[in-house]
Amino acid sequence: MNILSYLFLGFLGAALTTRWWLVHRQLDHVQRNRGSVPDAFRARVPLEEHRRAAAYTVAKGRFGRWELVVEAVLILVWTLGGGLDLLDRLWRGLSLPELATGVGVLLSLTLINALLDLPFAAYRTFVIEERFGFNRTTARIFTVDFLKQLLLLVLLGGPLATAVLWILMHAGSLWWSYAWLVWLGFSVFMVWAYPVLIAPLFNRFTPLGNEAIKQRIMTLLERNGLSSGGIYVMDGSRRTGHGNAYFTGIGAHKRIVFFDTLLEQLAADEIEAVLAHEIGHLKRRHIRKRMLLMAALSLGSLALLGWLAQQDWFYLGLGVTQPSGHAALALFTLVLPVFTFFLQPVLAALSRKHEFEADDFAAQQADAATLVRALVKLYRENASTLTPDPLYSAFHDSHPPAPVRVAHLSSQAV
Ligand SMILES: [Zn+2]
Repeated sequence: MNILSYLFLGFLGAALTTRWWLVHRQLDHVQRNRGSVPDAFRARVPLEEHRRAAAYTVAKGRFGRWELVVEAVLILVWTLGGGLDLLDRLWRGLSLPELATGVGVLLSLTLINALLDLPFAAYRTFVIEERFGFNRTTARIFTVDFLKQLLLLVLLGGPLATAVLWILMHAGSLWWSYAWLVWLGFSVFMVWAYPVLIAPLFNRFTPLGNEAIKQRIMTLLERNGLSSGGIYVMDGSRRTGHGNAYFTGIGAHKRIVFFDTLLEQLAADEIEAVLAHEIGHLKRRHIRKRMLLMAALSLGSLALLGWLAQQDWFYLGLGVTQPSGHAALALFTLVLPVFTFFLQPVLAALSRKHEFEADDFAAQQADAATLVRALVKLYRENASTLTPDPLYSAFHDSHPPAPVRVAHLSSQAV
């Protein structure tokens, strides 16, 4: 134990207490407002559905709170509890080359964490989502999904970990800047690979057949000087009743993907309005800005890691007796989120600013009232709460909360 240990414990305690308190506020706020639908939604959301959304939010929050505690305990066990140290010793006992030992430690750490999360994921899917009628996943799909994810972890995480550790061992004191380039290359590769190689492992994508909707989308894209790499429908209903739509891929030819559930829920003009919002993110360069921000943050983090990895107190303070490149990487990824938790509202606020801008764009391109209609339908279908706690929302919501977003759009409706 050294100063870092106490600092770490302090931050871990403060973050856990704050998160628990925020969930408490959220549940309290939702329950206090469950008796009446907010004015802006009264015409379109029946009281019964408003109550169901409240019950859904409360069920998720109550369970999520215990997950927070387990997560914090797990970080403690891995670090000060000596878990990582033990894992490291087990791998060293095999007398493999240093690089193989490092990759083994990193992959097994990720694998164990994924296995420990499995019961929670199962409870969320088969108990909470099931109770509210959203779950469409079978035990078989759930298991096969998990095995595919493990395979991807080894196939993608293995080479990445090998490359970064090799650089760490051979590239001298500026290794972190080369590792950053590898990380950037990997990220760009993933943006390309996700729609063409990875997503098809989990879902079926078929070209959109509905000509009326297709025509609207093509007109909207042309008007904005965009072309698409195809408009696809994804069989999201295989797993969940929740709907979504997104752009994916790299460069000018981004694919547009609609969940089949979204197409069932919305009318043609509402789908157009939702897509106009997504185009807003592209046209206002949000995606580029976000990638640049992430690149800058990862460079800063890696530079910090480059320095920390040379300090003995970094390892000792976090429960690792034998310093090594892979131990530094593992500790850093485990512990960094604890220290950056209080930056979360800043990143969330930036994201919400972008959402407002994309909504403004959609209001100009399509029609604000139509987008409001689409959003209210989606809030209803997804049982999203219409009465979130403002402080909870400031920390956690990447999108403006329903009442704020709808009020903002409604002020622009003609
Ligand atoms: Zn958006």
